[in-house]
Amino acid sequence: MPHAAVPDPAVGPLPEPDPVRDLAPGPVRGRVPEPVQNPGPGPVPDPVRNPVPDPVQNPVPGPVQNPVPGPVRDLASDPVRDPWRDAMRLALAEADAAAPAGDVPVGAVVLGPDGAVLARAHNEREAVGDPTAHAEVLALRRAAAATGEWRLTGCTLVVTLEPCVMCAGALVQSRVERVVFGALDEKAGAAGSLWDLVRDRRLNHRPEVIHGVLGEECAEQLTAFFRTR
Ligand SMILES: [Zn+2]
Repeated sequence: MPHAAVPDPAVGPLPEPDPVRDLAPGPVRGRVPEPVQNPGPGPVPDPVRNPVPDPVQNPVPGPVQNPVPGPVRDLASDPVRDPWRDAMRLALAEADAAAPAGDVPVGAVVLGPDGAVLARAHNEREAVGDPTAHAEVLALRRAAAATGEWRLTGCTLVVTLEPCVMCAGALVQSRVERVVFGALDEKAGAAGSLWDLVRDRRLNHRPEVIHGVLGEECAEQLTAFFRTR
């Protein structure tokens, strides 16, 4: 028969519970809460691996967020650029005339204050062997000849490519009210790309600049020219 209820005289009586020692935070008890307070990388949400969905960066695709497909948006009106599209088409047609002489196809037209075409010109640098025979300079000279006045007050120059520094200077000197161009010239442009000469605040006269009118067509005309060279 086991004597479970009888204390073993070799071991002695079981120790009485010590309430002070048992409740005091010993080294073992002190370390127990640490895994809860610093549970490590496992249970903590990882914002990289488990990012919280951002409604701004990750908008729900749908008819509200993306209402207009490409072709419809292309037809949307642009009140800044639309008034100059017809003049830019004239400039594009003028630029085509540069090709037979091997000139880079750049075309320009000058509109009077009433919108009438005062002059048109294309790049003739190769055709006449003149380094200043850019389309803008030629168009400004012809417009001044047509009006009999070097000041082209109230006039607008429309050109297929962003003007270079020479042409930007000529535009400021001519006092044109506005410069409208199609394609950006990131290698030599002086109307916003590489320089912004026409809007330099140190100048007394600063024409308004409108860019990107039929910009893709203007860029494509130039790209097609260089592709064949
Ligand atoms: Zn130029």
